[in-house]
Amino acid sequence: MSVGARKGAHGASGAPARARLGPMCPAPYTAAAMARPVRFEHFRWLGDKRSMVVHDLDAATEACAIPELMASEQFASFGPDVLAEARNRGYHACRRCARAATA
Ligand SMILES: [Zn+2]
Repeated sequence: MSVGARKGAHGASGAPARARLGPMCPAPYTAAAMARPVRFEHFRWLGDKRSMVVHDLDAATEACAIPELMASEQFASFGPDVLAEARNRGYHACRRCARAATA
């Protein structure tokens, strides 16, 4: 008896049993609803290192995307928590929330 004649056993035997994948849903974002980040509740000015814009958390709007900034971890706080200090570090006041506080 010879072994090894096993290939070519299935020819035209019908449909491939292909597993069907459901729609791929990305994980929902759940941490974007906070009005103000708890960790920065003692700060007023929050800088975005990517755009070099500083936001006034007392007046931040949805357009400032503070939760997104927090999630990115590309934020900065300032020693003296004042706009002047942020400006010393090269940040520009956000036009949406910090314009009223320009000195
Ligand atoms: Zn802003």
